[in-house]
Amino acid sequence: MASEVMTRDHPDWNKFVELLKTELTKDEPRYKDMPSMWPTFCDGKWTGALTVLMRHFPKVSVPKTIRYFRATGGFCDCEVLTNCAMTPDERWQAFNEGTRA
Ligand SMILES: [Zn+2]
Repeated sequence: MASEVMTRDHPDWNKFVELLKTELTKDEPRYKDMPSMWPTFCDGKWTGALTVLMRHFPKVSVPKTIRYFRATGGFCDCEVLTNCAMTPDERWQAFNEGTRA
């Protein structure tokens, strides 16, 4: 039964984020930790997030998690990685440095 929700409070959140970064930049791995490049690889949907959730987290409910993403500003893979996974200060720092995720 997929009853868990993948939120920032989920014990595997950091693992999920790492897997999503890897999935999103699988064709250009050198951009994995470069947030300003993530939109380049994003198809405007949750293709990467759904792939990672279904492949690695069978206990996580996809519909509930999509609801969480929407509620926290993550309307696509690259927004999940920025808006959901980082605070505004972390985002500013990441985009400023261009390397840190
Ligand atoms: Zn996106």
